[in-house]
Amino acid sequence: MNVLLVFAHPEPRSLNGALRDVAVQELEAQGHQVKVSDLYAQGWKSQIDRADFPALAPDARFDPGAASAAAFAAGTLTDDAKAEQEKLLWADVLILQFPLWWFTMPAILKGWVDRVYAYGFAYGVGEHSDRRWGDRYGEGVFAGKRAMLVVTTGGWEAHYSARGINGPMEDLLFPINHGILFYPGYQVLPPFVSHQVRRLDAAGFAREAERLRERMRTLATTPPIPYRRQNGGDYLIPSMELRPGLGDPGATGFALHRDAGGAG
Ligand code: FAD
Repeated sequence: MNVLLVFAHPEPRSLNGALRDVAVQELEAQGHQVKVSDLYAQGWKSQIDRADFPALAPDARFDPGAASAAAFAAGTLTDDAKAEQEKLLWADVLILQFPLWWFTMPAILKGWVDRVYAYGFAYGVGEHSDRRWGDRYGEGVFAGKRAMLVVTTGGWEAHYSARGINGPMEDLLFPINHGILFYPGYQVLPPFVSHQVRRLDAAGFAREAERLRERMRTLATTPPIPYRRQNGGDYLIPSMELRPGLGDPGATGFALHRDAGGAG
């Protein structure tokens, strides 16, 4: 398989840098082709602004979504964004790797999503009518591909458990897993999360490295998170609410969008 690893840590000698090398070595040992987008090393521009749309008239009001749609359709996005889109189309598997910063991804990675996921490429795709709300949440440009997160945290695993004060990790990562990965069609694998890493000793590193190697060996076979497909009949159109009777009684929020009984 072709694997794209998008890496968002400023220091190659960090734990994240070491885990990235572990992942790449294992993937290559398994015979996969690997590309790495090292965002800090590439000097990735985080913010979306007028400079992303060279064809936009200097006096035109800047509407980021409209500018994105026009530039994608005309092929006038900047070369850095186009290069990342090509890597995404090449890859069968996308891995996003980052340290958890303020309960989410570092800004540079969010900026990668903002600038690479153009309108017409990753969103705004498919028929939008009173019968259909586009190709998204299980459909879209990345349908048939897999994706997963590789995340490190300072906080303890218990702090991110079902009753932990930080909120469950599954909930914190939902906007990325569901909103950024499942939305344009990826099948999303459960994340690899390495908790409480600040004082990781050599034995701890060896354990985490082996856990990560195992996840790299099972990329093709790990069952994805069973998110409900938008166009699979579970949602009302156009309100996009889960149909009455589906989901656990009393459940609200993110948990509703996983089909506990489904195959994913
Ligand atoms: P490093 O600091 O590079 O390494 C951590 C430890 O791993 C080292 O001390 C060492 O013991 C070991 N190690 C490193 N490299 C190796 C190696 N090659 N071999 C063996 N052992 C090694 N945490 C949260 O839980 N929630 C948050 O919301 C959060 N927000 C943050 C916001 C900011 C701005 C920052 C800076 C940190 C935040 N943190 C948070 C903590 C952050 O998640 C951790 O600092 C980060 O995950 C550690 O990853 P690292 O790659 O930077 O580790």
